[in-house]
Parts: sequence; structure tokens; C-alpha cells
Amino acid sequence: MRTARLPIHLGVDALWRHAGVAACLLPGCTLVLTGWAQRASGGGVAALAIGGALLLSTPWLAWLAWRARPSDARLDASGMSIDGGPHSGLFVRWDEMARAEVRWLDSTNTTSALALSLRDGQTLTLAVAADPAEVASLHSLAETIRVRLGEAATPPPERADLVSCRGCGAPLVPSDHESIRCSACGADNTLPSSLRERVAAQRVADTTNRSTATAVERLLDQPGVRGTRAALWVATLAAVAAWCLVLVSFRAAGISALDWFLIGSGFFNGWAITFGAFAFARIALARRRALLLLSTTFGARPPTRAGEGPGCRQCGAPLPTGSGAVASCAYCGAQSVLGLDVRPLLERVRGHRTSIEGVLSEQRAERSTWLKLALSASAVALLGAGWLVVQVSVTREFAEDVRRCEADDVEACSKVALAYFNGSAVKQDRAEAYRFNDLACERGHAESCAAQASALRFGWGVTSDLERARKKYERACELGSTKACTDLEDLD
Ligand SMILES: [Zn+2]
Ligand SMILES: [Zn+2]
Repeated sequence: MRTARLPIHLGVDALWRHAGVAACLLPGCTLVLTGWAQRASGGGVAALAIGGALLLSTPWLAWLAWRARPSDARLDASGMSIDGGPHSGLFVRWDEMARAEVRWLDSTNTTSALALSLRDGQTLTLAVAADPAEVASLHSLAETIRVRLGEAATPPPERADLVSCRGCGAPLVPSDHESIRCSACGADNTLPSSLRERVAAQRVADTTNRSTATAVERLLDQPGVRGTRAALWVATLAAVAAWCLVLVSFRAAGISALDWFLIGSGFFNGWAITFGAFAFARIALARRRALLLLSTTFGARPPTRAGEGPGCRQCGAPLPTGSGAVASCAYCGAQSVLGLDVRPLLERVRGHRTSIEGVLSEQRAERSTWLKLALSASAVALLGAGWLVVQVSVTREFAEDVRRCEADDVEACSKVALAYFNGSAVKQDRAEAYRFNDLACERGHAESCAAQASALRFGWGVTSDLERARKKYERACELGSTKACTDLEDLD
């Protein structure tokens, strides 16, 4: 028999706290750096305060993430071993356990803990959880342990009319053979044709339903906590890398020259990538939840006597043998997962789930929801990254033009003036546009003189003065701007 593996901590809590750390740590650093570089302004002080708050919350989130790290319980005939979490590697024999219960950890009833008391008086806190799916998983394990310890009973089977051995009365394993030998006393029994037909029909149904059995086997054999932990770390690293790129792009644009729009879009982008990365990791957790449901809801009843096979989870009848991971009962038609030894058959988690296909399609739906969210976040982030690259290069080009203008490049001065006038690459400032046009016009740049003339005529960034405008138009016209010549005629 396979060792049953029950997730204690699915990893949902850990996942979102990892995401919290990734969303606070580097953005906090970025805001503090930017705020420090611009500390003379009110915006800079606000950035310092927000960045500081983000940084301060990081250790607390990291501690919560660490406390909720994913873990599994492996159950076999001798006891339970823990894989992952605070008690990783621990093995407790069934006869060492005294009781298991789920308690509220705080007065607001938001955090639950699974406590295992041992016969030697020790109490182990196996896991702490807040997410409802996580808390349900703690209850499942607690109930499994209680059943093992004899404190709770497995619900009695809803007995069907079993075909029993004519020699000893033991229930017979259904088969499509005409006669069958009783496993308890060895007597030969004839099976009624109606039962044989049902077994044959179900065998056909089970073979056409191969995909269900394969999907169940894949769920049972899925990678344990190590896989989940790897997914969490890959997501964290992807998010951290994204934030490093945001920081690098801010540095490229010059941190002290950043405007708040650029900072805002950089942050939006970083957070979109963080969410996308963790949404991808969340897909892996859908499999763990499905495993939990399969184990606690659909496990076949373990044999009651040595030499017997597993029984139907619903009616307790012996299950036909040799049908892979999933067996259908010949009496009541319920499907059971073979090879698990988790006994609670919890009412709490059973709920509306009556078929294994239901659990599988629920898992597929959960997967596709998170896949859609992850893909949309990635698409948004990709678009945002493209936009950020363009903005950063525009900002860099503008800074380069200002430098060249200071080094007597007339063409560069005119470009800077245009950027100020339109508010592209820099905040719109028509007085600055006038000043840079003045620098270029004095060195004989016709278009800049014309631009100055228009500014004087309409009062753009300078007091309107038609006399001075006329002089500027004349100069621009002399320097070769044909448009200035026609504008000059318009003025008269
Ligand atoms: Zn018998
Ligand atoms: Zn049954």
C-alpha cells in the first residue's frame, strides 16, 4: 500500500506572504533612494515615509511566510512523518500520540493552529494557518489522527445487499467470472449474472474513463513540499529580478530627475510582474488542494481483515481488483481511490463533491483561473516594460540634449525648448521653453527665433508684447524661416 500524503500546509498563506515580501522590499528601497535624492521637495519626504513603512513591514511578512511554509504529513501503518515546516523530519508513532486538535490562536479567530499532544505530555504545534483552504486542511489531518487514535469513528458504511459466501458469509469480491473462490474460507461460489453484468459494464466504463484514472495517479504522485517550495522561490526571484530592472531603469533615467509619473509607472510594472509571478506559482497549489480533497473524500476503506481487499468508500463492499488507481463499486457505483490510508471521509470537506471527476474539473477550473490571471498580469507588465524603456530613453535623450546645449549645440537647445513647450520628456514649462529658444535664437537658429516670436505674440510663458514679437519675426525671416515671413505679414 502506498504511503498516504496529506498536505498540512498547502502553501497558500506562504505564497501570498512571499508575494508581500517581494512587493515591499525592493519597492521600499527604491522609494527611500528616490525620496532621499529629492528630499528637499514635499514629494521626496512622502516617498521617504512610504518607502520606510514598506521596508519596516518586510521582516514581519517574512516571519509570517516562514511560519506558514508548506508541509506534508506522510501516514503509514506505523505512524506519521512530517515533511517540511517547523517539524520537518519528525516521526511520531501512532501509539505515542494522545490527541490532535485545531485551536484558534488569537482572540479575533483568524488564525488556527493544529496541536498534537503526545503521551509524554509534550504538545507540538504542527502548523498555523489563516487561509480557509489551509484551515480545512488542518481539520482534515486532525480528524485523520483522531480516527487513528479511536477517538472518532469512520462513518458506518451504507450497507448494500452484498453477495456473501455460502460457506462462511464473508462478502465476495465482485467479478465478471461465473464462479469465484472465497478469500476467507476457500469455498467456490457462483456469482449472480446481474452482478457479473454490472462488473463487466463498469469495467468498460472504467477503461473509457482512463483519463480520470491517469489524472488521479498524477495527483497522488505529484511532487511534495519540495516542488511547492521551489515554485515559491522561483516566483520570489522573478519578482526580485523585476524590481532590480525597475531600479536600474530609474538609475538610467537619473534618480534625482525622476518625475512622479515615471516612478508610478515603474512601480505599477513591478507590482504587475510580482502578481503575475505568484499567480503562476499559485497554479501549482491547485494540485495540492485536489490531493487533499481526493485523500480525505475518496479514499477506499482499508481492509478490515488481513488478506482482504479494500472496500467501497460508501457502502463498504469489496472492490473489484486490478483496476488501477480508481475503482468503481459494483453495488452502489461510487468511485474510490485505491492505495490511500486516510480514513476520516470528512463530512466537512465532502460537501457537494460526489464524484472524482468533480474534484478534477474543480482543479482544472482553479488552474485555468490562475493561469488567466498570471497571463494577463504578464501581458500588462510586458506592455508597461516597453513603455518604461521608451520613457527612460526619452528622459536620457533629453538630459543629453541639455548637456549638448550647454556645450553650444544650437540644434540641441532648440530640441530642449520644444520638449519644454510640449511637455514631452519633461514637465511642460513654457517659460523654460522661451529661455532655451532664446539661447538658440541668439546663435542664429531661425526656427527658435520664430518660436520666440509666437510666444511673445500669444503670451506663452512670457508677457505678450507685439513690438518685440515683430522684431523676432523679422530676425527669423532674415535667418531664412519662410513661415516667420508670412506670420510677419499676418501681424500687420
Ligand atoms: Zn467463505
Ligand atoms: Zn459501494
